[in-house]
Amino acid sequence: MRYRVLRPPYCYRWAVLLSALVLATTAAVTLFSSAEGAPAAPAPVAAAAAQVTPAPATELPPPPAAGLVRSAAGQGRTVALTFDDGPDPVYTPQILDALTRAGAVATFCMIGTNAVRHPELVRAVVDRGMRLCDHTISHDEQLPRRSEQRITAEIAGCWSDLQVAADRDVPVPYFRAPGGNWSELLTTVAARQGMKPLSWSVDSRDWTLPGTAQIVATVQRAVQPGAVVLLHDGGGKRAQTVEALNQLLPWFTAQGYRFDFPG
Ligand SMILES: [Zn+2]
Repeated sequence: MRYRVLRPPYCYRWAVLLSALVLATTAAVTLFSSAEGAPAAPAPVAAAAAQVTPAPATELPPPPAAGLVRSAAGQGRTVALTFDDGPDPVYTPQILDALTRAGAVATFCMIGTNAVRHPELVRAVVDRGMRLCDHTISHDEQLPRRSEQRITAEIAGCWSDLQVAADRDVPVPYFRAPGGNWSELLTTVAARQGMKPLSWSVDSRDWTLPGTAQIVATVQRAVQPGAVVLLHDGGGKRAQTVEALNQLLPWFTAQGYRFDFPG
């Protein structure tokens, strides 16, 4: 009985409260719109256009004039293999096995979200004597356009993800910009974290899925002593890369190359 008596007034109060909320929201929206006024109007159009048509790379901030690492650390017939966008549960173990069989080392530029998903692969890479490279948390190829705060979060965040995934203090000597889109600020932020900006001198173009033979031919044609070769263990189907690596590793050895880390 008591419940019944109380019910109508509560309903009423809720109705009044809701109406007041709706009125207040409407008033706030109206005020806000008129305050922002004309200058704000073109913004959504520009934002929509920017989303639909990615701006050409030329509109990104200029890349740093110098300082990108594009060569292997050692002198002579060295080659530094680098694998981006992993770790990947299918392809990273296959690549690790191929490298181990060949007695080769390589550098893995990992995406933070993938490292968090597959911490055991981060540990496996480190345990096999490979090196880690920070490839940001989310692989935003427009990173040079972002604020310093966002850039720092992406780079320092991936560094932290790698530490946590490895479950130990692990060196991350390199940072590689997503899409190879560099800016002075990116290298500065990476340097604060103790990381060298790692570029490449040979793009295998394995990410275009041109076929194993084409990947092998591209690398064989372009490689020179001291080369840093760009390959991918993540970010898509990488069976072609794995097969190309199985052919390239013995070829490098037959050509007198030593496997090295970037300089
Ligand atoms: Zn990448």
